[in-house]
Amino acid sequence: MSAINSVVDAEMPGLISDLQTLIRQPSVSAKKQGILECANLVVETMRRSGINSELLFLDDKDVAPIVYGEVKSRSNPGRTLLFYNHYDVQPEEPLELWKDEPFSGKVDGNYIYGRGSADDKGELITRIKAVEYFLKLTGDVPCNVKFMVEGEEEIGSVHVEQYLNKYRDRLSCDGVVWEFGYVDAKDRPIISLGMKGLLYVELIARGPARDAHSSLAVLIENPAWRLVLALATMRDQNGRVLIKDWYKEVQPFTGEELATISKEPFDEKEFKKEYEISKFVKNAKGSNIRKALVGMPTCNIAGFNSGYIAEGAKTVLPAKATVKIDFRLVPKMLPKKQLERLKRHLKLKGFRDIKVNFIHGEAAARTAIQEPFVKQVQEAAKETFGSVITSVSSAGTGPMYSFVKVLKAPCISIGSTYLFARIHSPNEFARIDLLNKTTKCIGRILEKFVS
Ligand SMILES: [Zn+2]
Repeated sequence: MSAINSVVDAEMPGLISDLQTLIRQPSVSAKKQGILECANLVVETMRRSGINSELLFLDDKDVAPIVYGEVKSRSNPGRTLLFYNHYDVQPEEPLELWKDEPFSGKVDGNYIYGRGSADDKGELITRIKAVEYFLKLTGDVPCNVKFMVEGEEEIGSVHVEQYLNKYRDRLSCDGVVWEFGYVDAKDRPIISLGMKGLLYVELIARGPARDAHSSLAVLIENPAWRLVLALATMRDQNGRVLIKDWYKEVQPFTGEELATISKEPFDEKEFKKEYEISKFVKNAKGSNIRKALVGMPTCNIAGFNSGYIAEGAKTVLPAKATVKIDFRLVPKMLPKKQLERLKRHLKLKGFRDIKVNFIHGEAAARTAIQEPFVKQVQEAAKETFGSVITSVSSAGTGPMYSFVKVLKAPCISIGSTYLFARIHSPNEFARIDLLNKTTKCIGRILEKFVS
């Protein structure tokens, strides 16, 4: 048990009201709404908790600032844990599907609602409060603590690497607690040791100079068909990417990774019910499902746009077709290299005319299971929640690679987000019991991180 446990229980009303205040300050990075206001609010919240805090900027002042926080340990000044979080949130739309106002921070029983309640303001408050309670209880923290709270996570963390490079010395640390962590339906925390990478591109096919009468389809090639044909050369029905050398650098799982993957639970039935699907890609079953989530690259059509899609019929041959594609990547696959392979593929297959716009790229990262930090977090989680699940990698993407590359510290994600907390969706919520437990768990991690 962490020394702060009883303080956590006693101070829950304060934790909840501070979280409500954060939720009620909209901070939608996609719309540049409330960003600076929210950054300042986080600084204020940290200062009230006893954390030295300030805003850090890049030379370009239009870039959202990061909130930096720091508490030096007197008892153990030789070890530093960094908390990486974000204060920005996803857009709240569609508005009509929210039961309450999206930034209400409304508490209803064990739930607190609002955009950002779980992702990521709920997670952030558990970190801040754990530090506050140590200071309250002992006047010290078990090890040095640093915070890096960014404001562009929901738009791809585009400047994180620049921040890490510019403030490398200030941010130096021995371990990173990642911004989120899931808790499954049986209240088991899922520790995740990695993240997949991402290559996000837009493909554009152009046809006639303007939309034409569709009777001319006998003469004019349709750009939507061009794109469909090009897409069909990129992925087979089993999800395998058909681009040459796509998997060239991909490493097989290590024995330890396989052993960990085999222990990861996955409720196939529940998952299918949740998404109302009857089967998985490649008809995956059993451990192949978990292997796919951890280590299968993807080629996903995120959006397709061309021609007339409003009500009724319009016989038109569109001038243009665009598609947005996200490729999830696994360790050793570098986005820029994969982009070159994609471009080469299109040329080789006769689609030289299709334009490829690079939108975003992030490499994958994975912390090795043998890292001592992994065991410390596993133990802390087990002591607090009663059990723990270790995941070799999350199926999602985040800028973990930049942290590993610049700070050279192991990263682990652990947190309070219920698996079905509707993050990025209407009626997002955080569970108060999980906020309580996670704050205790963070306390326990700090206590264990002394060596
Ligand atoms: Zn998010």
